[in-house]
Parts: sequence; C-alpha cells; structure tokens
Amino acid sequence: NHESALETVEPRSNNRRLVLFPLPFQGHINPMLQLASILYTKGFKIIIIHTDFNSPNQSNYPQFTFRSISDGLSKSKDGSLNLETTNHAINFMNKSCIEPFTVCLAKLLEVEPVTCLISDALWYFTQSVADSLKLKRIVIRTSSMSCIPVYEAFVVGEKSYFKTAIKEELALMTEKDIEKVYKGGSEKGKEELICNMIKETKAASGIIFNTFKELEEPAFLAISQDFQIPSFPIGPFHKYFPASSSSLLEQDRSSILWLDKQPVSSVVYVSFGSIAQMGEAEFTEMAWGLANSKQRFLWVVRPGSVSGSQWLESLPKGFKEEVGERGCIVKWAPQQEVLAHQAIGCFWTHNGWNSTLESICEGVPMICSPCSYDQPINARYATDVWKIGVMMDKKMKREETGISIKCIMEKEGSEMRERSKSLQEKVNQSMQKGGSAYQSLDDLVDCILSFSC
Ligand code: UDP
Repeated sequence: NHESALETVEPRSNNRRLVLFPLPFQGHINPMLQLASILYTKGFKIIIIHTDFNSPNQSNYPQFTFRSISDGLSKSKDGSLNLETTNHAINFMNKSCIEPFTVCLAKLLEVEPVTCLISDALWYFTQSVADSLKLKRIVIRTSSMSCIPVYEAFVVGEKSYFKTAIKEELALMTEKDIEKVYKGGSEKGKEELICNMIKETKAASGIIFNTFKELEEPAFLAISQDFQIPSFPIGPFHKYFPASSSSLLEQDRSSILWLDKQPVSSVVYVSFGSIAQMGEAEFTEMAWGLANSKQRFLWVVRPGSVSGSQWLESLPKGFKEEVGERGCIVKWAPQQEVLAHQAIGCFWTHNGWNSTLESICEGVPMICSPCSYDQPINARYATDVWKIGVMMDKKMKREETGISIKCIMEKEGSEMRERSKSLQEKVNQSMQKGGSAYQSLDDLVDCILSFSC
C-alpha cells in the first residue's frame, strides 16, 4: 500500500472541483474511481457523472458527489452487451449522451466553477462539450501506453507503421497479434471508436495512464513525441486504493477461504475479465485442459459468459468427478486479493490491462490468452519483453493446454516468478518518493492547479 504518497488523514481541501466521467464498464470504472480517490486525497472535491447503465455503487463513496445521466441504452437494442456489441454501444453512447451530459455539466457550472473535466478517453464526444463550456479536459486511458502507437497505426491506416513507431518491443508482434488487435471481437464500429479516441485525446490537455514509465518506456517516449500534450503515468492505481469498492458484481469471498487451504504457489487462477464471451466448445476445451493439467485451479466463470448457458450448464460430463477438491469455480472473485494470495502459482488471463497490471504488482506469472483490443499487445509484452508469461491460444486443444499449464506450474514457472518479483520491486520503487510514478502524480496535480479557477 502506497499511502506514503498520499495523505492518510482527511485531506485539506484546495477548493477546486473536478468532474470525472467514467465509461460504464468494469475495466474502466475501477481505474476512474481509484483515480477519484487519489485526487480526493490531494485535496480536490470530486463530482462523478455516470450513466444509468452500470452505475457505480455510491454508498462506498460518501465523500464524492454523484450525478447520473440517461444513456439511451435501454431504449436501444444494445440493452445486453457482449464483445460483439461493445464497440457499437460505446459509439452509440457517444451520441446519445451528448445532450444529457452537456445539460448536467452546464448545471454544475452554474453553481460553482469546475477546474477540469477528467473523462475516459473513449468518451470522445466530451472534448467538444468541454470546449463549448470553456473547460479544460484531461483524459484517462485505462489501457497500456504501448497500445497507443498500435492504435495510431490503425488511424493512419498503415499496418507497418507500428514497426517504426516504437521499433524494439513492438516489432515482436506477430501478424496474428495485429489481426487480433484490429479484427478480434467485433470489427464493427472499431475503426470509428479508435479514430475518434485518438483524435480527441490529442485535443485534450493531458493523458493520465494507469501504468508507470519504466514498464513501458519506449511507448512513453513515442507518445511524448507524437502527442503535444503531457502524459502522466502515475502508477498502478490499485496500489493506492483497491478495486473491490467499485466492483459491479458481488465478489465471492469463499474463494479466499478455499485458497487458504491450498499449498504455496500451487493454484492456477483463471479469469477472462468482465466482458469476454466464449462458445460452448471453447469452454469445454478449457475445462478439460484444466482437468488434464492435474493442477489445482480457481476458475471465475462469469454468469452469461458462455454462450447459451446461464452459468455452468455447459461443464462437460465427468469433469466434476475428475477434478474433485482440486478445483473451485466462482462467479466473480476478489481478484486483487486472490492474486496477492500465497497459494497462487500463475494467472491464466485474457490480458485486459487491469488484470495484467494486478498480476505484475503481485509478482504472478501469466498464461496469456488474449482476444482483442489492447490484450494481444499486453500479452506480447508479458511474454517477450518482461518475460513473465507464455502465450497460449484459447483455441488450443485440451491435451496441449493441459501440458502447457503443467509445464508453467512445474518448470518454466520458477524463472518467470523470479522475473515477476523483480518487476514487482520496480513498481514499488517507482511509487516511492523520488520514483517516476510519484513524480508524475505531483506533476498531474500541479498541471490541474495551473488551470484557472
Ligand atoms: N475482476 C474482479 N473479479 C473477477 C474478475 C475480474 O474483481 O472475478 C476485476 C479485475 O480485478 C480487474 C477488472 O475486473 O480490475 C477487469 O479489468 P480488465 O482490464 O482486466 O478486463 P476487462 O474486464 O476490461 O476485459
């Protein structure tokens, strides 16, 4: 816990108000509310504008003011979201929220001045609203810094661009990785989303990243060169405040009691985040892969994440008998606490950025099965740059999966675990006084305070 960088007592207000606007998905809500808590301890008053869809649990944040706006989603066909519809839904909300957001923000400004708007970078419509209200806008980008140059290549429309953008690490990316970034999940609406995000981020007054400079130095330098605005990689936010209070689903704490009974570094933790979906056949192969590995596992199967099933109906016959006490399946886990548990040996992940970072911070090696967006980039960094993970195609057959998992847990794992621990050390250093993340947070506060009112 790095409260050393923050005040632990009730902060002294600097009388500045900030409006924060999270994108309504778990992987975006967590970092935004953590950032809100960080800035609150620096003396800012926090107002959160949120959509009706996936609204955060306000009772966990009595110190903040909340205002909700209608997102129009319930009136659209996008009521239920999955990877096929996410791009479309975000583009849709970037239109449907223009009016309610503008009205809400203008009303707030009538009461008292606001120093700055901090919006998710994927809320690209907010730049022109901020301009029209003569308000500064800073964006928070909840993914890795390294995905920005790859997305830029997408905007430029030149797939070879990224190889020159940040030569060393990203040249490691394979054609298949790039294909996944651009085409994985659903291609529909992806270009509109990414192009607008990049364009409106460049028009903002700064970018906040949930990472630290030493982890992704080439990307940091590339972004500093290409974007004419300051970047603030202020460190893994969850090192300041846990993500549990902004969890949209209830975290099943029985998983920790189960872990307490397992030997040190013996358990594979399996989770593919809050959005990823899979087909029944893929789910069956995963189940048999885990069974064949003969390892202990804690598996998060989110209700509705397997197509055609409510929860575990698709588990193959004979699986439970084969696995017995060796496996524990839950709907949603207290992930940070799980990763910090001594029983965890490795993390089989989709490499969403929050999951990747949470794993790094606990020194846990990864089995990487990325799907789309920034995940293939994060996974490539984990395997080829930091060398704390192995790539495993989710479409792999059960026999190979079983062998791979066993190999990581028994052989390759120990070296990766050592490297992972030294990365964990780097995170800690960067957040101490004199470290880069510590300095970046100070710079961010100075930058906001330099805005008028
Ligand atoms: N998470 C959790 N419990 C779970 C699975 C995930 O609390 O069982 C949290 C996890 O700690 C992370 C977030 O959900 O903070 C997932 O974000 P990520 O960027 O990894 O993936 P996304 O859900 O955006 O695909």
